Amino acid sequence: MSEKKPRKILEYSVECPVCGRRLKVEEYLYDMPLVGKVIISSGKCENCGYKWSDVRLAEVKGPRKIVVEVEEPNDVNALVVRSSTASILIPELGVEITPGPASLGYITTIEGVLLDILDKIDFLCREGEAPRETCEEKKDLVEKARNAEIPFTFILVDPEGTSTIVSDKAKIIPLDEKEERREEK
Ligand SMILES: [Zn+2]
Repeated sequence: MSEKKPRKILEYSVECPVCGRRLKVEEYLYDMPLVGKVIISSGKCENCGYKWSDVRLAEVKGPRKIVVEVEEPNDVNALVVRSSTASILIPELGVEITPGPASLGYITTIEGVLLDILDKIDFLCREGEAPRETCEEKKDLVEKARNAEIPFTFILVDPEGTSTIVSDKAKIIPLDEKEERREEK
C-alpha cells in the first residue's frame, strides 16, 4: 500500500510554547520518494500565530547516529530528515545544533543546513554578538565546506530513531541506550 498523497492521520491539541493556549496539530502520512513513509506534523496557534512543524520516519529505527563524510561537491546534496529531537554536529566547523523545547523538525539537504548556519552567523554578526574578523572567518569556513573545498563530517544524532540521511555514504551507528542522555527540564 503506498501513500502517494499526504493522508491526514491524526489531529490533536498541545499547549502553545509561546502563549500557553491551545495549539492544534495535524499529522499527515506521506510516502516520500527516496525516504519512505514519513509523518509530517504541523500546527499554528490561533491565539499568537506561533507555527510549529515536525517530521519523522513512520518506522522507528531505534537510537542511532548517522554519519556522512563530505568529500566532494555532490555530497552536500544528500537529503536530511531531521526530526525535532535530533542534533546536528559538524566538528570541523564547531557546529552543534541541539534540540530545544520548541525545536522544529524539517527536511532539507546538508547544503540547506549549511545555508541555515550562514544565516545564523549573519544574524549574530549584525547583532554585534561576535567580533567582525571572527564573523568573516566563520562564514568563509562554512562557504568552503558548502563547496566541499574542505572535507567535513556531518553527524545526525537521533535518540528516537526517526531521522535519516539519504546518501550512499551514510554510516549508521546504533547508540548505546545507556549513553542516551535525555535530560528533560
Ligand atoms: Zn500561542
